[in-house]
Amino acid sequence: MANYSAFQKHLSDEINTIKSAGLYKDERIIASPQSAKIRLQSGQEVLNFCANNYLGLSDNPGLIEAATQAMQKRGYGMSSVRFICGTQDLHKELEASISRFFGTEDTILYAACFDANGGVFEPLLTEEDAIISDALNHASIIDGVRLCKAVRYRYANANMEDLETQLKTAQAQRFRLIVTDGVFSMDGNVAPLDKIYELAKKYDAMVMVDESHSAGVVGTTGRGTTEQFNLRGQVEILTGTLGKAFGGAIGGFTTGKKEIIDLLRQRSRPYLFSNSIPPAVVGAGIYTFQLLERDTTLQDKLHTNTEYFIGKMKAAGFDIKPTQSAICAVMLYDAKLSQDMASALQKEGIYVTGFYFPVVPKGQARIRVQISAAHEKEHLDKCADAFIKIGKELKIIKN
Ligand SMILES: *Cc1c(COP(=O)(O)O)cnc(C)c1O
Repeated sequence: MANYSAFQKHLSDEINTIKSAGLYKDERIIASPQSAKIRLQSGQEVLNFCANNYLGLSDNPGLIEAATQAMQKRGYGMSSVRFICGTQDLHKELEASISRFFGTEDTILYAACFDANGGVFEPLLTEEDAIISDALNHASIIDGVRLCKAVRYRYANANMEDLETQLKTAQAQRFRLIVTDGVFSMDGNVAPLDKIYELAKKYDAMVMVDESHSAGVVGTTGRGTTEQFNLRGQVEILTGTLGKAFGGAIGGFTTGKKEIIDLLRQRSRPYLFSNSIPPAVVGAGIYTFQLLERDTTLQDKLHTNTEYFIGKMKAAGFDIKPTQSAICAVMLYDAKLSQDMASALQKEGIYVTGFYFPVVPKGQARIRVQISAAHEKEHLDKCADAFIKIGKELKIIKN
């Protein structure tokens, strides 16, 4: 007890420090399925522009049916890790579907992409090797790299000169792995995989891309950055999530060269020591990849929607970060302005989030709009019109 009272005070002080810096995160509560149109706990209906629901699959009736069927036929939970007695026919089928989708040799499932990234480096590389990582890579990559003894190099975001400099130094190590996000989530820019791949060849390195924000989105048919840059099947390691474009529930994967996947099954700790994904999620996953293989209606709609919305916002005079994904970062620079604008937009029925330091660099506050195939043209118009109305009121754009 005595111990806790001192610790309790310490925690309260920490929380108060977060609050007084204006960095305390409150969670807004939704009382409907995730969709283009959502209902808040207050009863207000809003158009949702801040989910990673890129293909609009989060409330797709086919997915819900596939999940229900899988649960009926294979039960609720596996009560096991994969290698003891947690592997069903469905898990193998989903792994094969993911390999087909990305044109890779083999796939291993994880509970989340956070685990895929947490468990990919340590089993493969040692202190003799090098990891060369983009400075803006996702937190899960940073944590995964920390768990590995390889020598760490960092290059400025998508900066190929800097990558080359790091690769030259990293010639001192045995094996080299370049790691990058496919799409950087705060700006929406795509990693220059063609140039990264060239440098990898020149300096004898392997490449890993985290496709979490790019899979389902980038490339003509949504196969991700390797489709965009004509490198299908060439990159050694891809990681990704089932929690964004692919239905949005939970689940992650690593896909790539078969020896890499084989060794991960033997040694990757989040795979060996954490539970199997439940049949419902796996069944819905299989359905998702069948749907996306059949035709590209959703991918096409997402691309059309994104182009339309960004065109409208630019024409209205907003400062939009260069993007090649479904992320549209509306630059406001000032932290308070980003919060004021987001709450004014919510009153107009547009649900978005303002981001500021430390999520983005100081003085780079923004509202990140995320486009979905679930959005109809009228939704995009309503969103752009609300931005224009509030933008004029707050003197962000001219009248
Ligand atoms: C969202 C995201 C993750 C985490 O995915 P989960 O499956 O939710 O754990 C990992 N990497 C990147 C780049 C992401 O955007």
